[in-house]
Amino acid sequence: MKKILTLIVCLAATMATYAQTEVIAHRGFHATKNSEHNSLSSLANAQEAGFYGSECDINETADGVLVSIHGPKHGEYTVQQTDYATLRAKKLKNGEIMPTFEEYLIQAKKNTNTKLIIEIKSHDTPERETRVVKNILKMVKRFKLKKDVEYIAFSKHVCDELVAYGPKGIQIAYLNGNMTPAECKAQGYTGIDYNLKVMKQHPEWIKQSHDLGLTVNVWTVNNPEDIKWCIDNKVDYITTDNPLEVNRQLGK
Ligand code: MG
Repeated sequence: MKKILTLIVCLAATMATYAQTEVIAHRGFHATKNSEHNSLSSLANAQEAGFYGSECDINETADGVLVSIHGPKHGEYTVQQTDYATLRAKKLKNGEIMPTFEEYLIQAKKNTNTKLIIEIKSHDTPERETRVVKNILKMVKRFKLKKDVEYIAFSKHVCDELVAYGPKGIQIAYLNGNMTPAECKAQGYTGIDYNLKVMKQHPEWIKQSHDLGLTVNVWTVNNPEDIKWCIDNKVDYITTDNPLEVNRQLGK
């Protein structure tokens, strides 16, 4: 019995190592149906297309509301220094409203086959970043979406606070490209999520990550040759504005 169990564990580990590259729609699947980056429709489109993940950018407004928008600007306003009502009154380019993080979670809950990849944007002080992290974790818990989301951030402080305050099993990938896989592992992160240029400079980080049990995500990979490079080099996730091309090359 023990031998069979060991065999199953080994097989599962092998399958995990050789799992096929998956698609993460960068700022949602916006390149379709008159959608827009970080809009509710871009998340719904990614869910409908059945992608592994849909990424969004979360900022805190001046009066403490979490919103899904890339920033730092929304039209003429600096998102993190402007109150929510002013920002909300300004429509996205396609006429949709700028969604709150809560509205994003309501949409995410409708189809959890597509994971919500939450990029927590850098904020002006460590205290503010800590508050943003805690509020995001609290809301994800309230919606019972703990297993259906993953976190990414450029700020090391944000990643460290996610490690400190996040639940067991939380997925955290660092975006900034200036730490080795071993350094990320030592911080308690579960993956690297680096720019394509960084990964091409350090292709050895892919295997190093996998050997350490870290995932490898690469951004933002839009042209067919770069997509092919990522697939050939067995990265786990491609974050892209061109998800249909990734699926085409994967034979999906
Ligand atoms: Mg982003």
